[in-house]
Amino acid sequence: MRFATVISQRGRAGGRPGMGAVMGSKNLKAVVFKGDEEPEAADPQKLRELGREAYREIAEKPNYDFWRRQGTMATIEWCQENSTLPTYNFREGVFDEADGISGSTMERMVVKQRGCPNCNMICGNVIEDAEGVESELDYENVAMLGSNIGIGDLKKVAVLNRVCDELGLDTISAGNTLGFAIEAAEKGLLDIDVTWGDHEGARRLLEDIAYRRGDAGRLLSLGVREAAERLGGGASDFAIHVKGLECSAYDCHLCPGMALSFGTSPIGAHHKDAWVISWEISSGRRAEYIPEKADKVIEFQRIRGGMFECLVTCRFPWIELGFELDWYPRFLEAATGVSMSLDELLTLGDRVYALIRAFWVREYGGEWSRRMDYPPRRWCEEPLTKGPLKGAHLELEGYDRLLQAYYDKRGWDERGIPTRETFRRLGLESEARELERFVELH
Ligand code: SF4
Repeated sequence: MRFATVISQRGRAGGRPGMGAVMGSKNLKAVVFKGDEEPEAADPQKLRELGREAYREIAEKPNYDFWRRQGTMATIEWCQENSTLPTYNFREGVFDEADGISGSTMERMVVKQRGCPNCNMICGNVIEDAEGVESELDYENVAMLGSNIGIGDLKKVAVLNRVCDELGLDTISAGNTLGFAIEAAEKGLLDIDVTWGDHEGARRLLEDIAYRRGDAGRLLSLGVREAAERLGGGASDFAIHVKGLECSAYDCHLCPGMALSFGTSPIGAHHKDAWVISWEISSGRRAEYIPEKADKVIEFQRIRGGMFECLVTCRFPWIELGFELDWYPRFLEAATGVSMSLDELLTLGDRVYALIRAFWVREYGGEWSRRMDYPPRRWCEEPLTKGPLKGAHLELEGYDRLLQAYYDKRGWDERGIPTRETFRRLGLESEARELERFVELH
């Protein structure tokens, strides 16, 4: 199925756009690392010193204790306050039962914490779910399998979360697809026996999807874009995705910057690179379609999608605790002996983005257009009906201006394709030549 994921450590997922499906398509079931030797570092002494200093610095950051208690789960309350909590398949940004799935509620239930090896800001909080089994929670899972399908009981949400991990489903796409399915059933387009807030029904449907069982299971295993196209009847209007990847847990009815981030993310609608929503809200949310938002999206994409991804490092120390960026070149040099300035590391992000864009354009060929970077229709055409932002919606014209500002800043043409000059500047001439076999470059 399309949103199969790769699981490690029982609940940590190499989660999004179907990495497990790629493995499955090659009959690859698992990857096991076995050995007892330490990898060699270029300067082990320096690396140890840096590690000690970094641990100390992180533990002294003002938000450290709160983070250790809640991890990403504090985001539920923050999103609820700011009307960005995905609710009923992204129809609304507030959920009447948000208290029941909040970080504070979770704090009272935690049985242990779990994280990546050697991390001193571990973020996984494990609770006992409604079936008495341990389940590791995080904001995205809880929002998508909670408010987005109308469930306000954290222990029930935890069951769905754990079942997704056991079945190897991406929790974000799973919650998004369940929301789509329930709405499709509500509108008489899909024959399933699941309603909002029904965790038993949702659980059954998740299993049907994972095993591609029955008409609904087979259809929904394709993800919301394709399921909607096959269903017809206007289902594409409430399929919440960009480029076929189901949106992660931020409602963007009044967050054009975050919508741009989803629109231009290199893997489809995901927040992994440009999580600009907190900056956007704190810096005057109603100054809507200003070019500074495009600048901020690019700045974050360079840091998170370029430097952090290439270094294979966690983004939380920087984004959550303000761990300074100039640590990263120092760690790189001690670990590998490669000396690069922060600026050089950030330029990697521009190369990564141009390269992935070239890949998309090559795969879509003549079908490619800037519309591929547009947000889901619902955010533009169906205003919020509740909460402090009642009536709010994105304006496509404004979004299009923002998108153009983004392209201009990146050196991409009006179709969203890097120009010949941009490819040259980034040292990607041979990739540009390859791309010219499929589209004309400007
Ligand atoms: S490395 Fe990052 S994702 Fe892993 S436990 Fe630490 S903060 Fe969480």
